[in-house]
Amino acid sequence: MDEPASYPANPNLVFYPAPVLRQRAEPVRVFDQALRDFCRRMFAVMEDEHGVGLAAPQVGVSRRIFVTDHARRKDGESPQPRVWINPVIEAPTGTTVYEEGCLSFPAIYAKVTRHDRFTIRWQDEHGEPHVEQLDVGAGQFLGIVVQHELDHLDGIVFVDHLSLLQLGLARRRLKDLEAAYRKQTGKAGSPLRR
Ligand SMILES: [Zn+2]
Repeated sequence: MDEPASYPANPNLVFYPAPVLRQRAEPVRVFDQALRDFCRRMFAVMEDEHGVGLAAPQVGVSRRIFVTDHARRKDGESPQPRVWINPVIEAPTGTTVYEEGCLSFPAIYAKVTRHDRFTIRWQDEHGEPHVEQLDVGAGQFLGIVVQHELDHLDGIVFVDHLSLLQLGLARRRLKDLEAAYRKQTGKAGSPLRR
């Protein structure tokens, strides 16, 4: 598939049930200045919203890119901005449970089960390959963030991982978001089917 002619100059956060959140994002093949500028703009959106991670589909761009700054959750820790392009998780083991939220699902928080340890391979904004082992149980919260963000690149959102009981608790808020989307766009979008 061809690269987009340009990335959005002013990316805006999109909210559930926007259909782009349900698409499988395309790989990045061209590592140019336009990509790097877009990554910088993604950081700006994430920081404005006080997020620890943001995936490209969350600003309407269906590409396999996300950014993180997991240290931002702790006061006094210096920022650790990172760009992850075409990421792949390998050899996951164990499980861990963590309370998650998502900038595209404001005011919804729920415990999600994730892998505890895994290897992740990705490219940076210059196309350089990287590999790292992450261990959530050893205190690497980043391991939760990257699993959440990588899901976005496959059209999966954190509420997909919830039990029906958890979903029931979030249902009213989901309906509010669906109503807001209908009001703004005149369309139903892609609401959850469970
Ligand atoms: Zn999210």
